Amino acid sequence: MKTIIEPFKIKSVEPIFFTTPEYRVEVLKNADYNPFLIHSNDVLIDLLTDSGTSAMSSDQWAGIMKGDESYAGSPSYFRFKDAVQDITHMPHVIPAHQGRAAEKILFSILGGKGKYFVSNTLFDTTRANIEYSGAEGVDFIGEAGKHPTIPAPFKGNMDVEALKAFIEEKGAANIPLCIITVTNNSGGGQPVSMGNIKAVKAVCHEHHIPLFIDACRFAENSYFIKLREPGYADISVKEIARELFSHADGCTMSAKKDAFANIGGFLAMHDETLAQQCRNLLILTEGFPTYGGLAGRDLEAIAIGLKEVLDEHYLQYRIRSIEYITNKLEAAGVPVMLPAGGHAVYLDAKAFLDHIPVHQYPGQALVGALYLHGGIRAVEIGSLMFGKYNDQHELIPAALELVRLAIPRRVYTQSHIDYVAEVIIEVFEQRKAIKGLTIIEEAPTLRHFTAKLKPIQ
Ligand SMILES: *Cc1c(COP(=O)(O)O)cnc(C)c1O
Repeated sequence: MKTIIEPFKIKSVEPIFFTTPEYRVEVLKNADYNPFLIHSNDVLIDLLTDSGTSAMSSDQWAGIMKGDESYAGSPSYFRFKDAVQDITHMPHVIPAHQGRAAEKILFSILGGKGKYFVSNTLFDTTRANIEYSGAEGVDFIGEAGKHPTIPAPFKGNMDVEALKAFIEEKGAANIPLCIITVTNNSGGGQPVSMGNIKAVKAVCHEHHIPLFIDACRFAENSYFIKLREPGYADISVKEIARELFSHADGCTMSAKKDAFANIGGFLAMHDETLAQQCRNLLILTEGFPTYGGLAGRDLEAIAIGLKEVLDEHYLQYRIRSIEYITNKLEAAGVPVMLPAGGHAVYLDAKAFLDHIPVHQYPGQALVGALYLHGGIRAVEIGSLMFGKYNDQHELIPAALELVRLAIPRRVYTQSHIDYVAEVIIEVFEQRKAIKGLTIIEEAPTLRHFTAKLKPIQ
């Protein structure tokens, strides 16, 4: 088989920023060892997130010129709605300025004290919006998803038996919604199988619990189903995506991921009453239901992006590029999550830095080391992001200590990726010199975005 190439050519380029190691020492110190506080002009390869960082196509930019900015009833809205419905077949499509705005609306209506939202794994903003409403979010990741370095085809699957037991225990009336995140962002970008979605749906259906999809990476997940799930090899990714949504009662989506947009998101659903409640809240917080916090031009970019992402040459290149770097790292002995996920490479920081205890945030320490060594920006997905405190103010750690290097869509070339692998391998060879961190300042929710840290001497 020949090399899988980038399925595009480049029309417009942006600079990246070269800095010296001495300069980066100062930058990291001034950013209080938090990559979110580094200015992007001080970053060479920015793998902080794949969210809103995609390169848009010439068609999307052309669509932006066509965007109609009418307050109500814009044709851009109807093109957006048609694109969403073409995949989801959901009658109610509600735009929002990004994924978390859709979540805020949904959980403000369905949440509240004494309620439980169950999931394979809730993403951080999803969990935060659930908890902000007074409700609790509960993750039931399948056994395979708990072992970062042991490969399995569908490590994003939900544990159906645990779901059933939880419904028995708490009562279906206290569970307003089940949410399946595809792919499982916080769990390594690992896919969920169609079989698992069907099994979860059957349990939900029996107990009258609606099933929503957190659909940020529905196309990547659908492509994995095509590659890995028996019976889907000859079905188009678009048909697989349609089947995936056919099992759901609704979805939330951040268009900043698989729709290649720089901003945007939406809610879609079958239930008319719920949709009306959502629209009422939308008008209060986002805007009129045909623009929902977005410009008409953004709606155009999303509509076009939703079509482009289902191109199988694109998906083949996308999934292969993550696998390429993952395999390189694995061959060098770097502890990396296996198999490769859909949008990012995940380093197992607990194994990478086994001399740093969990309460000294090995993931965050590794993020700092990658920046210092190669100007690469990554993000911790571990106890800084998900840790909590007990009554004695001791850390209750997250299940995994990961470092995510998210690959923006259509942005970096193979040589950028080779460079990233070289930096990680060099840092791995020098890992014993890396020190742990302690928190000096933090916010009560989503603390990883703004926390200040310092090295432990
Ligand atoms: C990004 C993301 C969100 C939130 O979307 P934003 O557009 O960043 O607000 C929700 N769920 C998952 C799985 C995500 O990856």
